[in-house]
Amino acid sequence: MWNFNYLIPSIMIISVFVGYYVSLPRLPVRKNLVFIYVVSLECLVMISDLFSTWADINHQSFPSWALYVLNSSYFIFFLSRAFAFYIFTASVLKIDLFASKIQQFCINLPVDLGIIIVLLAPWTKWFYYIDESGYHSGPLYNLLYPIFAFYLTLSFITLIKQRNRLVRKREKYIILWYNVILTIGLIVRYAFPKYLLMDIFCLMAMIVIYLSFENPDGYLEERTYIFNRAALRDYIIEINGQKPINALIFCVHNYIDSTELYGIQQMNQGVYLIENYLKKEFPDYLIFDYRNARFVMFSKEDVDWHQIYDKIQERFLSPWVSKDTELYLDVGASIVNLSAKALPYEVLLRVFSDGFIQADKTVGNDINIYDDDFAAGILAESGIKRALDKAIENDAVEVFLQPIVDSATGKLAGAEALARIRGNDGKIIPPGLFIPIAEKNGKINQLGKQVFRKCCQFVKSSGFKNTGLTFINVNISPIQFMRLDLYETLTKMIEDANITPDLIHLEITEESMIDELLMEKQIETLTNKGFKFVLDDYGKGYSNMARLHRTPFINIKLDMSIVWDYCNNPDAILPNEVSAFTTTGFTITAEGIEDEDMARKMREIGCTYLQGYYYSRPLPIKEFIEKYSCQ
Ligand code: C2E
Ligand code: MG
Ligand code: MG
Repeated sequence: MWNFNYLIPSIMIISVFVGYYVSLPRLPVRKNLVFIYVVSLECLVMISDLFSTWADINHQSFPSWALYVLNSSYFIFFLSRAFAFYIFTASVLKIDLFASKIQQFCINLPVDLGIIIVLLAPWTKWFYYIDESGYHSGPLYNLLYPIFAFYLTLSFITLIKQRNRLVRKREKYIILWYNVILTIGLIVRYAFPKYLLMDIFCLMAMIVIYLSFENPDGYLEERTYIFNRAALRDYIIEINGQKPINALIFCVHNYIDSTELYGIQQMNQGVYLIENYLKKEFPDYLIFDYRNARFVMFSKEDVDWHQIYDKIQERFLSPWVSKDTELYLDVGASIVNLSAKALPYEVLLRVFSDGFIQADKTVGNDINIYDDDFAAGILAESGIKRALDKAIENDAVEVFLQPIVDSATGKLAGAEALARIRGNDGKIIPPGLFIPIAEKNGKINQLGKQVFRKCCQFVKSSGFKNTGLTFINVNISPIQFMRLDLYETLTKMIEDANITPDLIHLEITEESMIDELLMEKQIETLTNKGFKFVLDDYGKGYSNMARLHRTPFINIKLDMSIVWDYCNNPDAILPNEVSAFTTTGFTITAEGIEDEDMARKMREIGCTYLQGYYYSRPLPIKEFIEKYSCQ
């Protein structure tokens, strides 16, 4: 006899979950739709299980067609549920199972076959049959198990193969967890078919899914039930590559300062009032609160965001008032307008975070638009970032050398070391692209160390002596220069290579001199140890001549912009500056020399060294040695 002890409480529990789930707003994402499909099937399986079992027990009171309808419904829902759990796994992993017709056919085949066999039961009696003594399993009844097992196996395989698509690592274990619960349920059902235990295991799996992926509370702001930051993330992941992303971002200006001014409680109340206003005024829009009074709105249709924003701005002209609050707030906005092309998640995130930053600075109707071109720029940047990480990790930052010639003799005097990395295609990525990124994310320290170490190795090698070089210049970024351990780092590398520090000149720019005290300390310690400093890019920005004269540079490099300006339009300023420097004891290098005429002009105004494409472009160390060894 069948035992209902587990089935009836399971039905009661699921009804609580369903009631709670449908009473709260849900994101219109595929995962949620599939979840509704899973839950509906779960309810149908339980109810049909209850009724068919009860009817089978009391079979004398029912016509056989009614027993067939009830039992077949139960088996069809049972088989479809296995399929639905698999579809849910695929939707969490963001896999489009129905991308190809063949794939769709293969995935559907077991469940479709099972359903056909169930539907044929009244005539074939293969799956089950009803006779005067009631319900009986047929010879193909056990097909239930391999079909269910087929979808479970697919879930495990898909999880293993596609696990890297998950943004959060935890999700991997959750998928594994509920599939293991289902597997145990299937085994238990096979062992104890009379106990109607499978449903309780499916319910457990469903609760795991609910708690980890589907709990609406995780996606809603506490008081207004407006969608939160986590919901925004899931939503943009979902629509990425499926539909265009068309959103208005707006935020309250100077949120942190306003919080200090009005107090946290007051500001929270203000945000609550804004959320309520948005909900009421724009009921057809998807609205997200991205914390700290930053909001994102999506529309189902094409919409003129400027118009919407005008309306919002107008509302912000009056204060946000509640019982004990009266806040005067100001807003700024950005618009995100991307086509349906799929973008990596981190690129999307950057688009939105830049949108927020810009919105905070925007005044009036001056709205920044984040379009495909902007995203393409971020995408290229993330490619460079990857190439940079790879080069640093694999010790693959290359050092190119550009000759610096003595202006009087035209002979090679020194060289500047310039860093290069390569993209996936093996092509060189210029420093103008990767140095700013490396400076922003701090990797410049490791990159600089690698370049310096490779320069030390070169100085130690016979190539250095054979080319007749007397020094080599290495660029030190302001970020590196500000590190208090710079002295130890450089000294260690010099000592490891067993060379003297005066052979490697450190090129710094005026940006490194902003913190005067730190600069003086760094230069003093390093100069005492024997290092020599060169001022790079002189004339590129604002120059503090008095300070330059006090700093113990051995050489000043004229930035190519002022060299070119002078060569195109000679005047007295540059020659005077050069002569002021040379009389105080500095040697001068002119950068960006591209032809003989420029070389002559720079020689005439008193430059000691010349550097530029006229002599050579930067070359890989090996080529540099080959080219200059015989000199
Ligand atoms: P920089 O230190 O001023 O280096 C001179 C730049 O001018 C080099 O660009 C060089 O290739 C380029 N150049 C030289 N002669 C000519 C010429 O006649 N015409 C033109 N149009 N350009 C010329 P590069 O190699 O692209 O480097 C750009 C900047 O990247 C460097 O400017 C430097 O600030 C930075 N950089 C390069 N390597 C490193 C490094 O290892 N560490 C740090 N911190 N910065 C580096
Ligand atoms: Mg330089
Ligand atoms: Mg320079």
